[in-house]
Amino acid sequence: MEVLKFGGTSVANATAISRVLDIVDSARSRGKVVLVCSAISGCTDALIALSGMEPSEREKAGKAILDRHNSIVGRLFTGKERKDVSQIVLETYKDLLDAEAEDYQTFGELFSTRIIAAKLRCDGISALWLDSRDLIRIDGVAVDKELTYRRISKAIADHPEVEVFVVPGFIGSDATGRVRTLGRGGSDYTASLFAAALGADDLQIWTDVPGIMTTNPKDVRSARTIPQISYDAAFMLAACGAKVLYAPAVEPAKEAGINIRILDTFHPDHPGTVVGPFPRREKGGWVGIAWQKRGDESQLCLVADGPVDPAVPGDLRSKLERSNIVLRAVTAVDDHILVNLSAGDEIEALRTCHYFCFETDDSVDVYLAGEGKVGQALLEIIRNTDNRINVRLVSRHEVEDEEFFSQMFAAASGKSVFVDCTDSETIYKWYVPALEAGINVVSSNRRALSVPYAEFALMKRTARRMRRFLRYETTVGAALPILDSINMSANSADEILSIEAVVSCTLNFILTSGLPFEEALKKAQDIGLTEKDPRMDLGGRDALRKLLILGREAGIPLEEEDVLIEPVDGAQVQPGQRFVASIEKDPSAPKGYRAAIRLRTVGPDDPAWNVRGTDNMISIRSAFHPSPLIIQGAGEGAKMAASSVLNDILR
Ligand code: ASP
Ligand code: MG
Repeated sequence: MEVLKFGGTSVANATAISRVLDIVDSARSRGKVVLVCSAISGCTDALIALSGMEPSEREKAGKAILDRHNSIVGRLFTGKERKDVSQIVLETYKDLLDAEAEDYQTFGELFSTRIIAAKLRCDGISALWLDSRDLIRIDGVAVDKELTYRRISKAIADHPEVEVFVVPGFIGSDATGRVRTLGRGGSDYTASLFAAALGADDLQIWTDVPGIMTTNPKDVRSARTIPQISYDAAFMLAACGAKVLYAPAVEPAKEAGINIRILDTFHPDHPGTVVGPFPRREKGGWVGIAWQKRGDESQLCLVADGPVDPAVPGDLRSKLERSNIVLRAVTAVDDHILVNLSAGDEIEALRTCHYFCFETDDSVDVYLAGEGKVGQALLEIIRNTDNRINVRLVSRHEVEDEEFFSQMFAAASGKSVFVDCTDSETIYKWYVPALEAGINVVSSNRRALSVPYAEFALMKRTARRMRRFLRYETTVGAALPILDSINMSANSADEILSIEAVVSCTLNFILTSGLPFEEALKKAQDIGLTEKDPRMDLGGRDALRKLLILGREAGIPLEEEDVLIEPVDGAQVQPGQRFVASIEKDPSAPKGYRAAIRLRTVGPDDPAWNVRGTDNMISIRSAFHPSPLIIQGAGEGAKMAASSVLNDILR
């Protein structure tokens, strides 16, 4: 069961309604649908105006409302059906004229949903119009949820043959049977009540913007979609003036544990916003800004997803004051800041605040794929750092996930970073599209960077062309600044003469353990140091990937087949041996360098001699550095790798 709600602009005319029907059609292919609709846009306002008019003026204004609906009927239906539906509209209009003036406003949804239900039936769909006045019980301003849910469940259960239930939003009735409303914008609430009553699989609020945005895009053009937001933050934004969602609609969905998806009828492929049980963060990052008029005052509300740093209100105040905005008050309350000012000043203040929250140079949106050890350690670090880093979306998938990427492409800004902490062999295919979309890429996935050289070169070129970064320091020697050091030489017209590297933590652990080979291998397996298949380590596969990355960083277009590998044979291992990956200048070799991975016997003078356990070492000789540059240190550990990923994101 899916509950879909469409707002006034989504049903404003025949073209818009056809779009709605397409969306309902695809929902129908997944199961039963409850379709909640608002009045056509402007209708509720027109009805309220009508109720305030002198009876003599009413006829003309009422006729205009009738005409708008009839013209929709004229476009959607032909022949006998057109006549029948016009009749339904006319009868609704007669009921309107017979009603108390204060109830006029409750008729907009009756018009719109009766037309839509008729259209569905006319298209051969088993559709039933339900009267929400018989289902939703409103006592004073509160909904009697228990009674309401019971009635809704029964109404649906009574009609197992029906595919699409069409429901007028906004209205219900009190204990005396008198019609009542859920308040302006209340159709969202109707949809949420239905979703909760039915334990719906999905609650979709279809509107005319691509989800809940950082602020109203009509006020600030650079506003962008918030991909995910907690129920509480969404409620706060809605309660403080964001019109995209009616605040009371949050509660029923939250109680029932149903996500609310806010989607754009006019761009149905846009992923929009998911409102759900996203946890509060220890240090709040900005989520969005809403504003509303209150008498002669306007109030901005800046909402975060956790407590706001105590220094922030002061910073914000001085930012606003430097923009010559006259403030009445700035109040910080846990996870939000209220800014009060004279009505009329709000848009300028809003722009300044939006810039302050979302467009400052040090805020970064991170899209993380891969939640293995490194990914999790990264999330942990980010949680504990200041709110410079906004993680807006976390993929729950180890590998490619179309939806993750389409969300990222739709929502990312120039300061977004796609972080690949997977060890997928194929995810690199998304690097170029991400860079093309203006998204930076940081990777700890060495499989992605050791793909055939042509693919690697394309990534590098795309990054350069798009002026985005592609960083992967973590792929070799975890947090050791190895690639950076090679880069320095490569960028300074220096010439690399040789690189020697001990980069296989597993093998180095085995070789320096002092234990017999088989025993050491077993121990390495036990503590989780080896790949699933230890032959990968012994065969030098992992070292090969690192060597390819090292060589390419030095400007050598190395391919797998350029590297001579001598796999480790446990029976032949001698004391004093190290597993060394090397690149050496050799003008007679096809690419000007010779590359090899093999066991080498080293003496105490060799830098590789002292590399113990899971440490890594790299020694670089170049024309400018006749005595080698040696970098040595811990080469393994999720926290360290994560800190290196973070450094790539931020530096
Ligand atoms: N038609 C009602 C209003 O304009 C309810 C809604 O659209 O949600 O307030
Ligand atoms: Mg609305």
